[in-house]
Amino acid sequence: MALMSVSSAYAKPADHEQADAQALDLAKQAIALRSVRGPDNQAPRVAALFKSALVAGGFNDADVTITPVDDTAFLIARWKGRDPGLKPLVISGHMDVVEARPSDWERDPFTPVIENGLLYGRGASDMKLDDALAVAALIELKREKYQPRRDIVLAFSGDEETTMKTTGMLAGQLSNAEMVLNIDGTDGLLDPEGKPQYFNWSGAEKTYADFELTVTSPGGHSSRPYDPNAITQLAAALVRIGHYKFEPELSELTRAYFSAAARYESPEIAAAMRAFAANPADSRAIDVLRANPATIGKIGTTCVATMINGGHALNALPQRATANINCRIFPGHPRTQIMQELERVAADPAVHFKDVTVGGVATEASPIRPDLVEAITKAIHIGYPGVPVFPTMSAGASDSMWFRNQHIPSYGVSPLFIKDSDRFSHGLNERVPVADVRPSLAYMLSMLIDLSK
Ligand SMILES: [Zn+2]
Repeated sequence: MALMSVSSAYAKPADHEQADAQALDLAKQAIALRSVRGPDNQAPRVAALFKSALVAGGFNDADVTITPVDDTAFLIARWKGRDPGLKPLVISGHMDVVEARPSDWERDPFTPVIENGLLYGRGASDMKLDDALAVAALIELKREKYQPRRDIVLAFSGDEETTMKTTGMLAGQLSNAEMVLNIDGTDGLLDPEGKPQYFNWSGAEKTYADFELTVTSPGGHSSRPYDPNAITQLAAALVRIGHYKFEPELSELTRAYFSAAARYESPEIAAAMRAFAANPADSRAIDVLRANPATIGKIGTTCVATMINGGHALNALPQRATANINCRIFPGHPRTQIMQELERVAADPAVHFKDVTVGGVATEASPIRPDLVEAITKAIHIGYPGVPVFPTMSAGASDSMWFRNQHIPSYGVSPLFIKDSDRFSHGLNERVPVADVRPSLAYMLSMLIDLSK
C-alpha cells in the first residue's frame, strides 16, 4: 500500500470497522422501535437505546439525560471538553419518525431489512441511521482516547416530525452553543448509476407561514342578491394575491448555491442561475427561475392559496368565506411583514387577515463560516474524493429553525448519499444505501474532531 499517503488518522474509512458495525446495528434496533407520535410512541425507548450504548461506550451516566415530554422524550449527552471557557459544539438529530402503515409497504416498516445493498425501514434515511452514526462516532472517539477541547453535546429531539416542542426546549437549554450540526436527512446525491455527484449542506431554510383570510357579510336570500358578496369579494382578493410576485432576493448562501449548482442544470436554467447570481434584478433570469418549480422557491418569498371555504346553503347569500394562504418566506423577514404585504396586495379592508401559523418561528440564514466549510469539505472528501461540496437553502422546516431562532448558527450536514430514485423519507419503502455507513462514519469522526479540537 505504498501508494496510499495517509495525511490524517482518518484518511482510510476502512479503519473503523467496529464503529461501522455498531452504527448499522443501532440503526436497525432504532428502526424496530415505532417512534410515531400517539399511543405507544416508542421514542423514549429509542433514547434509552442510545443512552445505554453511550454509557457502555464510556459516557458518564449522569452526562446522558433523557427528559420525558408528553408521549415522547429528548436526549442530551454531554462530553465535557478540556476548556470550559469554550462554547459547545451541538449535534442535532431527531428520534421520531412519520407514521407508516404496514399494509401500504412492501415490507414491514418497523422490521429493518437489508436487500440489494439498501437498508429498508421507517426512519432509515430520516434519520435513525444518522443518529446511530453520531452515537457510534462518539463512542469510537472515546475508544481512541480523543479529548475534545470544547464540549460536544448530542441533542436528540423526539417530535421533529410533529410539534417540535422538544426541539424548542433543547434550543432553550443549549442556547450558548458555538454552532449546531443538524445531521437530519440525506445531503449527498448519487446519480442513477450510484456515482456521487455532489454534497449540499444547508445554511438556511424558508420560514413557514399560514395566513387565514376571512370575509363576512350579513347574508340573506339568494333571490335578493346585493353587493358585496363575501365569496366574490374574497375571490377577487385571492386573484390579486395569486398574480402578485414578491421581490426576488439573493443572499450570500443562494449566490453560492446558484453559482455551483448551475453545472448540473439544462443550459437554459444554468444560464439563468448564473445571471441571477450576478444580478438579482435580471428580469429574464427571474422569469426562467420563476417558471421552474425547482427554483422558484430559491429566489424569494412565495405565497399561494391552499384552501378555500365559504357559504352555508345552496340558496343563501354567504355569511362567511375563508381561505388559507401558505407562504414560504425568504430568510430574514418576520411573518408580520409578509402578512402586511399581502394585506396591501389584497387591497380590500373587508378581507381580514390572521396569522394562523402553528409551530413555526422565523429565522435568518446562518453565516458561511470558513471553519465549517473547511471541515465539511475535508470530511466528505475522505469517502468521496473530489466531489463538489456547496451550500443550499432548504425549502422545508427542520430542527435548525429553533436554534437559528436563538441566533445559533445551525447547519444541515447529513453525510448520507442517496439516488433521487431512492428518496422516500416520509414515504413508502424508505431506504438508505448500506455502503453509506463507512464514509459517513469517517465523516462524523472528522467533523467532530475538526470542530471540537
Ligand atoms: Zn428528519
